[in-house]
Amino acid sequence: MQEILVVEDEKAIRSMINFSLSRAGYSVIEAPDVKSAKNQIDKKIPDLVLIDWMLPDESGLELAKSLKKDELTKNIGVIMLTAKAEERDKIAGFNSGADDYVTKPFSQNELIARIKALLRRTSYVDSEVLKSGRISIDLRSMRVLIDDKEVHFGPKEFKLLEHFIVNDGRVFSRSQLLDQVWGRSVYVEERTVDVHIRRLRSSLEQYGLSELIQTVRGSGYRFSHTGDD
Ligand code: CA
Repeated sequence: MQEILVVEDEKAIRSMINFSLSRAGYSVIEAPDVKSAKNQIDKKIPDLVLIDWMLPDESGLELAKSLKKDELTKNIGVIMLTAKAEERDKIAGFNSGADDYVTKPFSQNELIARIKALLRRTSYVDSEVLKSGRISIDLRSMRVLIDDKEVHFGPKEFKLLEHFIVNDGRVFSRSQLLDQVWGRSVYVEERTVDVHIRRLRSSLEQYGLSELIQTVRGSGYRFSHTGDD
């Protein structure tokens, strides 16, 4: 099921959007401000984010820009919601962050039509697929399928899974994983690796695949299909 994050501080609008998107078959996550939106995205990469322009903590446009700047989130479709009065002055700004915008008040049908169109553009273009047993990863759209069903991972878990699949059977120390998956641009403690490995395993566990990520005592972690077809 495709997942849409709705970032909107007005509860009535947020609930209304949630209602119609759920009815249209999407899985909806709500966030009332930029901070909680970032937390949500950190846990799970959505397929698309709807962002209200005016949010209580930061501007919605700043959120859109930061998503488009980050390698891990830049392929997520972004639609801005804006009030009529803001439209003319600010359209230029949309170009730097958003893929599309919808002006309030909008009809639910219009919103859903825009979402469908954007998902078509962001989901299926130039896919590059990596396969390992029951798991396939679309590197471009950052979608993971297990048994042909989409499974959502956080951006770090996605990168870890990709790294492990590319290097099937190799053992990596925590410090190697930090270098190769996180990059050394930010200081992260080695136990952070364990936290993300645990999350990755628990997502895989639902499909009986947690054994794919093996702890190698004294060395680190390995992804291996040994004992699995
Ligand atoms: Ca608002």
